Amino acid sequence: MDDTVQIRCPRCKSSFRDKARQVQTGYSRQCPRCETIVFFEDGSNDKGIQRALLDAKRLRRALREAAEVGKPASRPFVYRRS
Ligand SMILES: [Zn+2]
Repeated sequence: MDDTVQIRCPRCKSSFRDKARQVQTGYSRQCPRCETIVFFEDGSNDKGIQRALLDAKRLRRALREAAEVGKPASRPFVYRRS
């Protein structure tokens, strides 16, 4: 499974990809094209940033679930009270 999300630079509007594991609130990285530092903040008023944060959050959950589905046999059964 692809573990990267698409990010759109708020300045030059070019798209690039970064690991969903990294892209979360407080993270920042440099745009490969215009070298602007792109900040990922919950309160960002840039739609592209919010979108990337949301996509990354969703993808992290999907990856975690996929990892759990992949290894049920090797894990001892644990009874969980709900
Ligand atoms: Zn850029």
